[in-house]
Amino acid sequence: ERQETISVQACIDYALRLFQSRLREGNITIVQDWPAETLWVKGDLVRLEQVLVNLIGNALQAMKGVPAPQLTLGAHIHQQQVIISVSDNGPGIPEEHLGHIFEPFFTTKAPGSGLGLGLSISSRIMDDLGGKLQATNQPEGGARFTITLPHSPLAH
Ligand code: ADP
Ligand code: MG
Repeated sequence: ERQETISVQACIDYALRLFQSRLREGNITIVQDWPAETLWVKGDLVRLEQVLVNLIGNALQAMKGVPAPQLTLGAHIHQQQVIISVSDNGPGIPEEHLGHIFEPFFTTKAPGSGLGLGLSISSRIMDDLGGKLQATNQPEGGARFTITLPHSPLAH
């Protein structure tokens, strides 16, 4: 397991870059909401990127058919924790599913289009990194996933 100091903003950028053409083709508005100073966390860049890729991929699937799709990526520090959020303006998550979406093989997608493993793997990765992954619905509609990780002040 790699332990490196990761720039959260760079990690989000890497993940977004993978979706570049899909974001453009889908006319998806990207809102980036984070401070100018770099937010640092410790861990394995590739694994954090994998979690972000899972969350962004889910958000894009959820926004299919939405008239003005908007993907919001946020990051800020709160009480020594870095909070990263991935929000969409899709239909959101039905209340009765909120307690199940992190279970392996839970999916509402058509057979063949979702294995139902992305969130369970992502949540395991976050546990391993000493963080957590949570899901909520936004008051204005759409789902929001938040990653919480200990802030790592950059050692010089
Ligand atoms: P999969 O994407 O293969 O279905 P996941 O573990 O990634 O598996 O997600 C599990 C389920 O959680 C999805 O099938 C869907 O019902 C729900 N879900 C995940 N992300 C979102 C989202 N952004 N908006 C609405 N529902 C979501
Ligand atoms: Mg998925």
